[in-house]
Amino acid sequence: MVHQVFIYVAHRDGQAADSALELLSAARILSPDGPVTAIVTGWGEVLDRVCQEMASRCPEVWKLAHQDLAYPNAEAVRKCLVEVLPSEAVLLLAHDTLGMDLGPGLSVKLNSSFVSDVVAMTAPRDGALTLVREEYGGQVSTHVSCDISGGAVLSIRSGAFPALEDGAPGEVQDRSSEIGDLACGRRFLEIVEAEAGDVDITKEEILVSAGRGIEDEDNIEIAEELAKALGGVVSCSRPIVDAKWLEKARQVGTSGKTVKPKIYLALGISGSFQHLGGLKGNPFIVAVNKNSKAPIFQVADVGVVDDLLEFVPLLTERINSQR
Ligand SMILES: Cc1cc2nc3c(=O)[nH]c(=O)nc-3n(C[C@H](O)[C@H](O)[C@H](O)COP(=O)(O)OP(=O)(O)OC[C@H]3O[C@@H](n4cnc5c(N)ncnc54)[C@H](O)[C@@H]3O)c2cc1C
Repeated sequence: MVHQVFIYVAHRDGQAADSALELLSAARILSPDGPVTAIVTGWGEVLDRVCQEMASRCPEVWKLAHQDLAYPNAEAVRKCLVEVLPSEAVLLLAHDTLGMDLGPGLSVKLNSSFVSDVVAMTAPRDGALTLVREEYGGQVSTHVSCDISGGAVLSIRSGAFPALEDGAPGEVQDRSSEIGDLACGRRFLEIVEAEAGDVDITKEEILVSAGRGIEDEDNIEIAEELAKALGGVVSCSRPIVDAKWLEKARQVGTSGKTVKPKIYLALGISGSFQHLGGLKGNPFIVAVNKNSKAPIFQVADVGVVDDLLEFVPLLTERINSQR
């Protein structure tokens, strides 16, 4: 049986999230020849812009406009999707803050299967999909068989699938008249922007990122010296911000900034999916970690198994001496 495959497109400021093209790529595995429909919810001119953007890469785009969908309130989005999705639909959404909020409740309301944080999948056979998830911080992979005969909601990890570059263009269908009552118990108040910070790590080509393995606030200087030698700036993982060793504006990850450097040095960073979710654009990754089994080595182009407190100052010295 051919299932109708949908992706839910998150967006901000009139631009689809990077995850949208990754979802399209995952959807192609599920439906190599069949149509894939992108669903975009929202309100006003920004919604139209996102719909047009998606229609340049996707054969069918459903526009769902309603004032209560102006902000991504998962409760309202869930009510809307329950109205418009056909039974047995397979819906892919990003495993981000909104996706984690939306997916479980939606699958319950649709009475469909739910698998979260998917990193790989194989084409469906006999009504079932094999999906791969990672557990214990990426130390093990688990393979899950998912019956999609009654529909499914799958949340897809950021960066796990390549962005689809060659999608055929399509058309926008306005399905807003199908939206029912969206009255919610929870009301979205406002978006509070993070502090700007003194540097904008999203615009830098070389990032030297410090993780918990740097061990002490005073050792941040080791990362700063290397960044200076390379002409880059220092970024970090979340524990460094939590410890107040660096400001929030320097944090890379799903709850920090999305960065697109050319070169990314990960010093004492284990490689959690929340951290790697903020790393886009396929940078050249150099990882220094004293644990050879750290998941960061699965994505690194160059891996150095060593104590960063010893290795990094030597590297900086060598770079400076060769200038
Ligand atoms: C909802 C949510 C959102 C999150 N958002 C983010 C986010 O945006 N960004 C983010 O980074 N995290 C985020 N996290 C946290 C994330 O799950 C991880 O806990 C975090 O990324 C781990 O940071 P780390 O790699 O620096 O530390 P750890 O996981 O503790 O890893 C430290 C690494 O350093 C190595 N090490 C230790 N000492 C040395 C040494 N001397 N030399 C070399 N290597 C050494 C260790 O082997 C280890 O691999 C989020 C978590 C949640 C639940």
